[in-house]
Amino acid sequence: STFDEAGIHPVMKKNLELCMYSWPTAIQCYTIPAIHEQRDVIGIAQTGSGKTGAFLIPILSKLMGKAKKLAAPRPNIAEGWDPKVNAVRAEPLVLIVCPTRELANQIFDDARRLCYRSMLRPCVVYGGAPARLQREELQKGCDILIGTPGRILDFMRQPHVLSLRRVRYTVIDEADELLQADWEKDFKHLMAGGDMNEDSDHRYLMFSASFNKECRKLAGDYLSRDHVRI
Ligand code: AMP
Repeated sequence: STFDEAGIHPVMKKNLELCMYSWPTAIQCYTIPAIHEQRDVIGIAQTGSGKTGAFLIPILSKLMGKAKKLAAPRPNIAEGWDPKVNAVRAEPLVLIVCPTRELANQIFDDARRLCYRSMLRPCVVYGGAPARLQREELQKGCDILIGTPGRILDFMRQPHVLSLRRVRYTVIDEADELLQADWEKDFKHLMAGGDMNEDSDHRYLMFSASFNKECRKLAGDYLSRDHVRI
């Protein structure tokens, strides 16, 4: 199987070539058609299996087809951009939640490469780094938000910075880690919190190295009954 057969957007095909991804990995072979059919997905996969591409490639490819209509307005950031004057509120279409700063940065790097020459703009936020620069990036427009739960919540609580009301795809990466004590409270708060888009066309994808009781409960709470398990 190649990416040619999979109904991938031409801009994405070009970016896959630039990344030198010639063939989908096993997990990508399953997730690409599933996301195309608007199914929820659980992937039990280890890092190294190509799981980041497994959610980014089909989601971004689908959004590329609608980006003109959906992408965030872009303030003119060419020169003298001033957040006090022309900031926009971030209303991402995709929310990717993960447990660590390292993982968030890895996903962000892949997202940047796969969004190249599209109208989609990724941003990354995480704790342990100054909030101001991250906030300014959000305020330049954000279509794909990657981050750790605590910092995402911080930005949601600030006026006019971030809203989740337009999210169409939520990806929960390393779900088993997110359900560990350190993260669980913020993570659950985020998922259940305030203005998350609750339309039935909001798709959920969950990836985890293991599928323990807590993960099964989470899947039961958020994923549709006819989700695909990979
Ligand atoms: P991940 O499991 O997402 O951490 O990905 C593991 C590595 O595989 C990363 O370095 C990716 O850049 C690479 N990768 C992902 N998808 C493909 C693909 N279809 N072909 C070749 N390499 C890939």
